Amino acid sequence: MLSENTSGHERRRYELSQGTTGWVEVICGCMFAGKSEEMLRRLRRVTIAKQEILLVKPKIDDRYSETEVVSHSGFRMKACSIPGSDPWEIVKVWLEVGKPPVVGIDEGQFFQDLPEVVERIASDGSRVIVAGLDLDYLGRPFLAPSVLSMAEDVTKLTAVCMTCGGPASRTQRLTGGDALIEVGGEGQYEARCRAHWTGVHG
Ligand SMILES: [Zn+2]
Repeated sequence: MLSENTSGHERRRYELSQGTTGWVEVICGCMFAGKSEEMLRRLRRVTIAKQEILLVKPKIDDRYSETEVVSHSGFRMKACSIPGSDPWEIVKVWLEVGKPPVVGIDEGQFFQDLPEVVERIASDGSRVIVAGLDLDYLGRPFLAPSVLSMAEDVTKLTAVCMTCGGPASRTQRLTGGDALIEVGGEGQYEARCRAHWTGVHG
């Protein structure tokens, strides 16, 4: 599935995917950075290569669709919805569907015990791709840092700062509410660079 246009990084991922040893990829960044988009892009390459995939997402995230992962730009793929408080259900489903060689976990920051679950699947030979918010809106680690530590491959994506147009690494919450988990989209949050991010409420 490689063409002359395939980047070195993509080539490396492909070569890894041909082996039998598992490994872990992380796609992280702030909101609107295109994490789900990048996840779906990688998974689509896998399906074109006629490999089986399992895509899961936390049940807490019901925006757009209950049974699909949909990127902000509207790209979509079927997903299995699993409670964030019961991440071992991911392993259970993965075993039930015959241990597919590629597992995508979207919105990974909402799953408890994610490092153990990822390690369990990867150590059994599958490629695990985790997408998630690296920081919460207060700038604290959100996706379990040990998932980034254990990963063979980490991609940090940036969005566009809505104040200056520069690369944005942080998520600014614009409206009230102190709950850490408030799933939302445009209007409630926006991407900001380090200089224009103020932590709470604009
Ligand atoms: Zn800025």
